Amino acid sequence: MQGEVLIIGGGLIGSSIAWRLAQKGARVTIADAGNLGGEASPAGAGMLSPGAEFDKPSVWLDLGLESMRLYPAFVEELQAETGIDTDFRMFHPDDGIVDPAALLRALRCACESRNVRIMREQVTAVEPREHAAVVIAAGAWSGQVRVQNVTLPAVVPIKGHLIGFELEPGALGPVRRHGETYVLQRSSGFLIAGSNEQDIGFDRTVDAAICRDIHRRAAQLFPPLEHATPATSWIGFRPRSAEGDAPHVRRVEGTNVWLAYGHYRNGILLTPVTAQRIADEIHS
Ligand SMILES: Cc1cc2nc3c(=O)[nH]c(=O)nc-3n(C[C@H](O)[C@H](O)[C@H](O)COP(=O)(O)OP(=O)(O)OC[C@H]3O[C@@H](n4cnc5c(N)ncnc54)[C@H](O)[C@@H]3O)c2cc1C
Repeated sequence: MQGEVLIIGGGLIGSSIAWRLAQKGARVTIADAGNLGGEASPAGAGMLSPGAEFDKPSVWLDLGLESMRLYPAFVEELQAETGIDTDFRMFHPDDGIVDPAALLRALRCACESRNVRIMREQVTAVEPREHAAVVIAAGAWSGQVRVQNVTLPAVVPIKGHLIGFELEPGALGPVRRHGETYVLQRSSGFLIAGSNEQDIGFDRTVDAAICRDIHRRAAQLFPPLEHATPATSWIGFRPRSAEGDAPHVRRVEGTNVWLAYGHYRNGILLTPVTAQRIADEIHS
């Protein structure tokens, strides 16, 4: 393959594509506007639950099940390359959890050791002819990048809150969820409760009333939380395609531009399948 692949955005989606391409011997650069993956990816909870998320046949369900099948080998290979434990656990064949911040650290480490160039740069416009391939993986900001001769499908940021508690390891067991409320626990004991959805743009305020409501709902699922005090709370922006349909994981016809965004509530789940599909198309 001649020339370098430019990946715009270094969240889980961009970093995993970079890793897979670098494994195939491609020259890869990631340009990330912030601190490589400081947005939705490390903010997410890390539930891997295609069965619970999608209750009818859909592209989402097919992608989710395929990605879930890829997950064990994906994290094992990443751990073998980096030595970083991603706290991946499966409770049932189609239900598991992973620590997305640890996954992102491992991907960064794997990319660096395979000589992926990582630049801190906000890309506003790109000329695809200057690269072997360009991948748009800027999450909820993807629609803001101007690509010469290509109109990118729009994407909407869907804000979500999470709260965290320091508890004894093993206090919870498997994930509990009901509607948009869920609780899950990392091996360290850190317990995460979520969530909500707001279509209000890139507003980074952490709303105390929403956090209290999540706490109340989470305590119904796991009563020991009723008298526990949250240690922290945070927000993130889920990238949802403007039409609300399946994520954009494809080549823009007739160009050397690939889309890898719009994963909405399931980008952590869909990381392995997205990385494999895009990397295989770019460098078969
Ligand atoms: C509260 C919450 C809970 C969630 N829980 C889960 C869950 O349990 N399971 C699950 O599967 N998913 C979950 N998600 C969804 C998941 O986090 C996202 O779908 C996924 O992280 C999207 O990854 P990404 O790499 O596309 O985007 P991001 O992680 O947002 O990465 C985009 C990157 O692009 C960079 N960027 C932006 N603009 C530019 C630019 N112009 N130039 C260069 N770089 C740019 C940003 O700095 C950022 O690093 C959750 C999300 C939220 C907010």
